[in-house]
Amino acid sequence: MKFETLAIHAGQEPDPNNGAVMTPVYLTSTYKQDGVGKPRQGYEYSRTLNPTRKALQDCLAALESGSFGLAFASGLAATNTVLQLLNAGDHVLAGNDVYGGAFRLFDKILRRFNLDFTFADTTDPESVAEALTPSTRLVWLETPTNPYLRITNIQAVAEIVHAHPNKPLLAVDNTFATPYLQRPLELGADIVVHSMTKYLGGHSDVVGGAAIVKDKELADRLYFLQNAVGAVPGPMDCFLVLRGIKTLPLRMERHYENATAIVEFLASHPKVEKIFYPYHTSHPQQKTAKHQMRNGGGMISFIVKGGRDAAVRVVEATKIFALAESLGGVESLIEVPAAMTHLSVVGSPLEVDPALIRLSVGIENKDDLIEDMQQALEKA
Ligand SMILES: *Cc1c(COP(=O)(O)O)cnc(C)c1O
Repeated sequence: MKFETLAIHAGQEPDPNNGAVMTPVYLTSTYKQDGVGKPRQGYEYSRTLNPTRKALQDCLAALESGSFGLAFASGLAATNTVLQLLNAGDHVLAGNDVYGGAFRLFDKILRRFNLDFTFADTTDPESVAEALTPSTRLVWLETPTNPYLRITNIQAVAEIVHAHPNKPLLAVDNTFATPYLQRPLELGADIVVHSMTKYLGGHSDVVGGAAIVKDKELADRLYFLQNAVGAVPGPMDCFLVLRGIKTLPLRMERHYENATAIVEFLASHPKVEKIFYPYHTSHPQQKTAKHQMRNGGGMISFIVKGGRDAAVRVVEATKIFALAESLGGVESLIEVPAAMTHLSVVGSPLEVDPALIRLSVGIENKDDLIEDMQQALEKA
């Protein structure tokens, strides 16, 4: 089946008891067993597995061209669980432009458990090769990155990582692209991670995370951790994400159409110094983006002339773009990463330009969005 069909049907069958077309929200923590040690259909306790979560997990696996999906209470819960595959003393090579919360988890918490982190420029596969050490067990990257929308060639990095004698795992945070635009497992990644809070949910009404893998042995280790660590989503959250995913292809096409129009508008605006958008001709990895992503996505970052104060004036002046953290919903959002989502990287090598503005372009009418940006940029 093609992606659009999988988005609606994968993991979801009409209920065999009553024909309900939508997956029920199974609000149950436990399941009656047929005998001691004889659970029905593998359900014992809802931290371990719940039917609504199972439908979502199977859907995620299908969309990412994986074999096994795991849902978590948040994107960071998924990230943390993946990192728990490691042992004290292991080294992680991470991209030098990652989600601020991932950096905080790595730098402030997991370092205390004696995991070692190096942050490298993964847009250059050579610098990945140079930063691998004899203790590297995991390579972690985002592409496009948050907030600079830098692109890493997943296939090139996968070849380097897998040629290393240690056989480190390659994990790709695919939150910004979504499986509709890019499927890292097809390009050689071992693990895909998502914040389902963003495009997969798509309506800014749920927090969730996911991990998807192909390999059975790796999946078993992750299912063990998912149950043993316990950072699982509730059934209502799983239902909301399942519902959101059904329109993912439609939404991603519209996000792209609107983003393209806004990029064009910004590119010729006198108050805009620089634009970061994967499909824009000014993007240094545009060629890789066009090769591994179906379209340019809905995220745009740009630097406004006049520094931090000008950026703050712009984001406080929009009327349709809501000043808010998060991204990937149907509604347009605007923010200043240095002062909002990326506060945790201040003073680190991952520090963000204070005049950088990040847009999550929604699926409203593009002329309304451009008009809104136009009047806000006059305040710069
Ligand atoms: C938001 C985000 C996360 C964290 O996800 P939560 O659901 O907020 O925990 C991780 N990676 C990226 C790229 C994100 O945008």
